[in-house]
Amino acid sequence: MHNLDWISKWATYSPDKVALKDYATKQELTYRQLNDNALKLADILKSEYGLEKGDRLMVIAEHSSLYVTLFSVAQKTGIILVPVNYRLSAKEIDYLIGNCTPKLVLYESNFQALVMQASANSQTSILNTQKLIGEMKGRNFKTDFPNSELDFDDPLFILYTSGTTGFPKGALYTHRMLFWNSMNTALSLDVVSSDFTINCMPAFHTGGWNVLITPLLHKGATIGMMNKFDADQVLSLLESEQATIYWGVPTTLKMMLESPLFENADLSSIRYFLSGGEALPLESIHQWHKKGIKIRQGYGLTEVGPNITSLHHNDAERKIGSIGRPNFYVESKLVNESGEEVKPGEIGEFCLGGNLVTAGYWNNPEATSDAIVDGWFRTGDLMKQDEEGYLYVVDRRKSMFISGGENVYPAEVERVLLSHPAINEAAVIGVKDEKWGEVGKAFIVIKKEEAPLEMELRGFCLEHLAKYKVPKYFEFISDLPKNDTGKINKKALKSAVS
Ligand code: ATP
Repeated sequence: MHNLDWISKWATYSPDKVALKDYATKQELTYRQLNDNALKLADILKSEYGLEKGDRLMVIAEHSSLYVTLFSVAQKTGIILVPVNYRLSAKEIDYLIGNCTPKLVLYESNFQALVMQASANSQTSILNTQKLIGEMKGRNFKTDFPNSELDFDDPLFILYTSGTTGFPKGALYTHRMLFWNSMNTALSLDVVSSDFTINCMPAFHTGGWNVLITPLLHKGATIGMMNKFDADQVLSLLESEQATIYWGVPTTLKMMLESPLFENADLSSIRYFLSGGEALPLESIHQWHKKGIKIRQGYGLTEVGPNITSLHHNDAERKIGSIGRPNFYVESKLVNESGEEVKPGEIGEFCLGGNLVTAGYWNNPEATSDAIVDGWFRTGDLMKQDEEGYLYVVDRRKSMFISGGENVYPAEVERVLLSHPAINEAAVIGVKDEKWGEVGKAFIVIKKEEAPLEMELRGFCLEHLAKYKVPKYFEFISDLPKNDTGKINKKALKSAVS
């Protein structure tokens, strides 16, 4: 039994410090106000709507201070938060409702029609966030929510994977993961109480929580919250708020580079940027370095961490392309197909163990036992480690294909293509071939007014890659399909060619 209610501690240590600045609602909340709001909400949800420890509370809303308040409610009461992507269809949400059987679905007015349609076949109650906020006004709150009945292994929230391989799976995020992730992040990413950061990643992805958890809950720092990403607004806010750190993903960092405000933005208050979620192209790293912004790399996933490795900015040039070394309290290994650990320089699957691993997928024991074998979570990510222990992502196991008996890692081919000055974006997949089994097909988005011919690109690839790795087909398209975090959706590309 532990006291897991972190916001209430900050409400005692630094009650008048601003915890959240919500730019969409133009509201500022001190730690005391945030804690008071959470106490009121906890009281309402328990006494008016009957939610108890272990009940699921689904939320379909844009990112806002309400989400953070609900997170604190979960820490106080043991109610399990289920943030859901509001871009899903009613059918998809209906599936999630069936999977986690929430006692209540909380929704913002914009999503009312969606939620009504999605919940039509279930017994689940639904509630508009405005109504809930209205109920908070003028309500006296109880201060007696000792969460001594909560344990490290109790779930805090459930995050659904995008279901790129079948139905979505609800990864359980426990108090234990929160604690160890915060310890790792504070140590490896030097987060301090005086930090100010902007959070614009959605709460239904692990990245959205990652930006919040350590600075806010663990360090008592200040967070500026946008309800969604906008490159110009982020640049302006980083400057006007004298922000000290910023955590993003490659797509958003690239969009910021392309913003008309980039050139003149004064980002001198920034200590560093962190990029994670997928590989950051070298060109982006160089452009940010030129601007004087130190870039750190991070790697992680919804089911473990999410902060697993980090590359310090002092190593950014020396170890370019690396995701760094495992964070302090990470248990990891790289194994071959027989489960034996590989030597430096050899490719193996990255496996993660210990306190940072999910307790499993909600209501899905088969998926849990497929993913976690003997206590080790199999990430499906193929990596190499150098003699100093720095890790390099080779590719996802499911992206690799075999051409004429040779393994081809599309990420390697994509890196070469992206180094061509006329290419803006590139994605490579394996497609069936009578002679070779599979061959590469490259989807290319070119920069404006520059159009390299297929012949030229083929020649460029041949200069840098073995022949069997060079894509047989090139298709020029205007946009690559992406998921909500900006990652290229290879499943969509594959189904477009099959
Ligand atoms: P989903 O599970 O929802 O289908 P996903 O597989 O992208 O999507 P996430 O948990 O969002 O799942 O992302 C984790 C994956 O992202 C990792 O397993 C890895 O493949 C990739 N990844 C994360 N950080 C990096 C990085 N710095 N470099 C390369 N790949 C990364």
